[in-house]
Amino acid sequence: MYRYITGFLFLLSTAVFAQTSQPDQPIRGYGSSSVFSHNDYLQPVPFYMAYLSETGYVEADIFLEKGKLLVAHTKEEVSMLNSLEDMYLRPLQACIRKNRGYVFADTSKTLTFMIDLKTEAQTTLPALVTLIKNYKELTTCKSLLITISGNMPSPDKWSQYPSFINFDGRPGIAYTKEQLQRVPLISDNYVKYSDWKGTTNITDSQAEKIIALRDEVHAKNKPLRLWGMPDRASSWAMFMNLGIDIINTDHPQDAVKYVSRYGKDNFRLATSQTTYQPTKKFSATAVPKNIILLIADGTGLAQIYSGYTANHGALNVFNMGTVGLSITRSANGYITDSAAGATALSTGRKTNNRYIGVDSVGTRLPTIAEQLKQKGYHISIASCGDITDATPASFYAHQPDRKMSEPIALDFMSTNFDVLIGGGKNSFVARGDKRNLFDELQRKGYTVSDQLSALPTIDNTRFVVIDDDAELRKSDGRGNFLTDSFRKASAMSVKSKQPFFMMFEGAQVDWGGHSNNLPYLATEFLDFDALVGEAVKFADQNGETLVIVTADHETGGLSLVGGDPGTGAVTGSFSTGGHTAIPVPVFAYGPGAHLFTGVYQNTQIYYKMLQLVGGK
Ligand SMILES: [Zn+2]
Repeated sequence: MYRYITGFLFLLSTAVFAQTSQPDQPIRGYGSSSVFSHNDYLQPVPFYMAYLSETGYVEADIFLEKGKLLVAHTKEEVSMLNSLEDMYLRPLQACIRKNRGYVFADTSKTLTFMIDLKTEAQTTLPALVTLIKNYKELTTCKSLLITISGNMPSPDKWSQYPSFINFDGRPGIAYTKEQLQRVPLISDNYVKYSDWKGTTNITDSQAEKIIALRDEVHAKNKPLRLWGMPDRASSWAMFMNLGIDIINTDHPQDAVKYVSRYGKDNFRLATSQTTYQPTKKFSATAVPKNIILLIADGTGLAQIYSGYTANHGALNVFNMGTVGLSITRSANGYITDSAAGATALSTGRKTNNRYIGVDSVGTRLPTIAEQLKQKGYHISIASCGDITDATPASFYAHQPDRKMSEPIALDFMSTNFDVLIGGGKNSFVARGDKRNLFDELQRKGYTVSDQLSALPTIDNTRFVVIDDDAELRKSDGRGNFLTDSFRKASAMSVKSKQPFFMMFEGAQVDWGGHSNNLPYLATEFLDFDALVGEAVKFADQNGETLVIVTADHETGGLSLVGGDPGTGAVTGSFSTGGHTAIPVPVFAYGPGAHLFTGVYQNTQIYYKMLQLVGGK
């Protein structure tokens, strides 16, 4: 089923939303304007609950009774107390006055006020027109569409009514061009198309009927509403996947919250990126000379599988062959932060959250990078984030708080490491102590640049490139920074003729998780996975290199609630804006990889690496 549902999601965003509708009725993806407050007068606070959520549609049923227009659901419930004026016209007038001619403070948002005539049009509509004419704010409002539904006059009679009156369209009617201009939406009864109640899956044939209707309505460039559609979160998602423009609901506030998140919960990658097929020609029991440690910050299995799904069912990490699980808790927390998480990987010790390269009482711990440097290794540290941030810092710095970025940058000066690439320039050159660390590094023999574009020109085995553009989102133009940096750093490692250790961080999967943004994190993860492919390819060519891929923790409590590797569409759901305790996968490839199977504490990754290359 999902095969074409998700496929049409793409069609919808390109074909339909690209069209321009009437200027006062823009259709721009899903948001609060997609929500229709059905039978709004039954809400605990009519009008205002929908209005404060900025729904695009509010509906009231009206009866003409003894010359008065009254809001009610059935004739039996009609009460003289529920006048249309009191419940809707005066509140609307007040809002439009307040916003100087617009319904909402956000003047780009429109409100379609749907008035469903329950008594016959011939008498009710003229009475309504006469009444509304008393509210000049409503008849002249630039963002209000007063729209008649229910007992409507036939389209050939519409021209008899003033232009501020619009009409609820129906499918299958050949409206004239003039008539169509007075139709802000087209509605129909859901039960004519489907009896799906919102549980399990809609049948293919019913979905096809709805899609045919949607296409007919969209061909007229109008949004589609289905009244009587199932009204719960799982069905809202299904209707959005089917490209139904308007969510008809009795829960306007919940629906606005849900629909507004839609763009952040859904991702689709149109064309997949290629993956590298490893040759696996190494001896698993051999001892590696070099280690490449790749850390995707905030990446659990759901993040990885979102990338797999979006990338049409292929990932470099899934080709690595060996997998384990790392338990990430810190010394003082069930849930770790990146500082304690990375310090566990770099030193083999659990420490407190926020601590960088020190134990839980603040004692400096040697990091694996420092220990290998002492053994004559070539050391590279890189990140597509601030290089003084917790993860990279935990490999070269020793500070009691991750936020101490200037002391962290200064710590790098005494490491004698060979390569440093990332963002965070100010901690090196705009320091409180007035030291210019770029100048000092240059005097120590490093090639130093604040331009990523300098990377290809570098031929020095010792170099530092710190450019804040490294911290751009992939989608904002970071380019192939991670793989380009990897190629240069690995080439210089080889050129040094020393064994080498590299730590590269994909920093922003974590940021996408913190902002509960699936497109962001999946895009960042796939960029990281391209780096994994480069590293594995390098390991195949080199033959003596172990590649380890893991994370410091999971971020966002992501679960995947829908998707299709066939189309590259995936739907996520987040449970937190922070980190979670769930263990993270460890993938390994190359000589020594077998040590990384099993379930273990994150600190064991340090000991496994040391066992292989540290002579311990
Ligand atoms: Zn984080």
